[in-house]
Amino acid sequence: MSTTTDLSELALTAAHDLEDASAEEILTWAHDEFGSRLVLTSSMTDTVLIDLAAKVAPGIDVVFLDTGYHFVETIGTRDAVQSVYDVNVINVTPELTVAEQDAQYGEDLFARDPDRCCGMRKVAPLGRALEPYAAWASGLRRADGPTRAGTPVVSWDARRRLVRVAPLARWSDEQVADYIETNALMVNPLLDDGYTSIGCAPCTLPATSDDPRSGRWAGLAKTECGILQ
Ligand code: SF4
Repeated sequence: MSTTTDLSELALTAAHDLEDASAEEILTWAHDEFGSRLVLTSSMTDTVLIDLAAKVAPGIDVVFLDTGYHFVETIGTRDAVQSVYDVNVINVTPELTVAEQDAQYGEDLFARDPDRCCGMRKVAPLGRALEPYAAWASGLRRADGPTRAGTPVVSWDARRRLVRVAPLARWSDEQVADYIETNALMVNPLLDDGYTSIGCAPCTLPATSDDPRSGRWAGLAKTECGILQ
């Protein structure tokens, strides 16, 4: 089994070697290196990464963080993905149901302390879900906004001690749209209603500016849920 030092050095080398590689090449590298210890996470906004991964690594595990606050359209997209693609969707839930959280912390914690709410409903469940894996691929893109502009195609997550892979890091919005159209991919129906980044319903509005993530926690200083830290 690879040591932490081996994996961190592997990530550093791959970040350099794969900077100009295609998404398929990056996914193929990750699949060859990690096999079943590679996992994907998806917000079920679109299915680009799932479509690519299902071709490169059929049966791959796809973690979905089911916070209990998702739009019905997002849950429908998750269910359709499981039916259509050769992937294994793993529905990850928080320790507390929304009702239990309301009872312990008061209703609508997201409005009073969104960092704490995200911590319990996203960050902690993701940490538990990623424990069996050595590498974690996600759909992060540099074009997602200023907070993601420096996303490497491969990096080392020292906190979780796993390799992070971002096969779409260099993709523009136009590339994503072209891939969806060319391959007739399903997308979350909310994309047609002006939602350019889709998270939990109480904390997501249609985009309010050119920043695609401007509808997330609109009006608050918060811009990320914390799973990227
Ligand atoms: S996005 Fe909002 S509702 Fe979802 S976990 Fe974070 S604070 Fe809670």
